[in-house]
Amino acid sequence: MAPCNKATNDASTKDQNGVNNTTDMADSKNKSLEDAKTSNSKRQPGKKWGSGNANAQQLAGLYSKEKRAQEIIGLSVCVLLIAVDFFLLVRYFDSSRTIYIILSALAGICTADFASGIVHWGADTWGTVDFPIIGPALLRPFREHHIDPTSICRHDFIETNADCFTICIPFIGYSIFKFCTYSPEQIALTYNFEMYVFFLACFVTMTNEFHKWSHTYFGLPKWISLLQDYHVILPRIHHRYHHVSPHEVNYCITTGWLNPPLEAINFWRKAEHVITKLTGAIPRSDDMKWSKVE
Ligand SMILES: [Zn+2]
Ligand SMILES: [Zn+2]
Repeated sequence: MAPCNKATNDASTKDQNGVNNTTDMADSKNKSLEDAKTSNSKRQPGKKWGSGNANAQQLAGLYSKEKRAQEIIGLSVCVLLIAVDFFLLVRYFDSSRTIYIILSALAGICTADFASGIVHWGADTWGTVDFPIIGPALLRPFREHHIDPTSICRHDFIETNADCFTICIPFIGYSIFKFCTYSPEQIALTYNFEMYVFFLACFVTMTNEFHKWSHTYFGLPKWISLLQDYHVILPRIHHRYHHVSPHEVNYCITTGWLNPPLEAINFWRKAEHVITKLTGAIPRSDDMKWSKVE
C-alpha cells in the first residue's frame, strides 16, 4: 500500500516548501502497523488490499464528473459564507464576553466531533452503495476507505472536503441572515449561539482534512503533527484503532475527544441494538460485503 506522501530516507530533511519530512523510524513502524491492522485476520493472506484491490477500484470509479461539479459549487459557496460570517462575528465582537465565546467555541467543536461520529457510524453501519443518490454519493467513500485507507491521501482538497463544506451552507447562511435582519439588541442576545455555529461549521468543514492527516505518515508540517500529538485534532494512533476490522470503534474523527466517553458507555452498540430491533437491519452487512475477498 502506497504511503500518503513519498517518503525520503532522510529522517530530518525539509523539502523546498519548508515541510518537515517526519520520516522517523516510529512513523514507518506506525504505517506498517496500520497496514497490518487493516489487513486483519478475517482477510485472506496473499490477497491484494489497498489501491490494487478490485472492489476499491470499482468504488473509486463511481466518482463522477457531476459529483465533482457539485463539490466545487458547494465548497465555493460555503467558503464565501464562512468569510462573511467571520466578518460579521468580528464586527459585533464584545471582549467582555470572552469567556462565553470560548465556551461556545468548545461546545461547537465537541458538537462537530459528535456529528462526525454519528455520520461516520451511520454510513459505515447502515445502507448500501446501491441506495439511490446517497449510496454512490455518500456511502461509497466510506466503503472505499475501509478497503483502501490511504486512498483519502490521494484525493485532493475538493474531493476530500467538499461534502463537509456543503452540509454547512444552510447553518452558516441562517447565521448571516440573522446578523443582517436582527436589531443590535437581538444580535447581542444570539451572539454566543452564532459563535457556537461558526466553530461547529469550521470544525465540520475540516473534519475530513483532519481525518486525512491522521492517515498521513510523511510530509506533514510540524505544526499539524504537534496538534495531533497534543490531541487538539484527531491523532494518528487514536484513529488507527478504527481501521481494525470490523471497524466498529472510535467513529468520531474531528478531534476524537468524544471517543473515550462514547466507547466507555458502549454508545454505538446500544444504538445498533435499537435500530436492529426496529428494522431488522444487520449492522455493517454492506461494509462486510465490500471487504470480502473473492
Ligand atoms: Zn469507518
Ligand atoms: Zn480513516
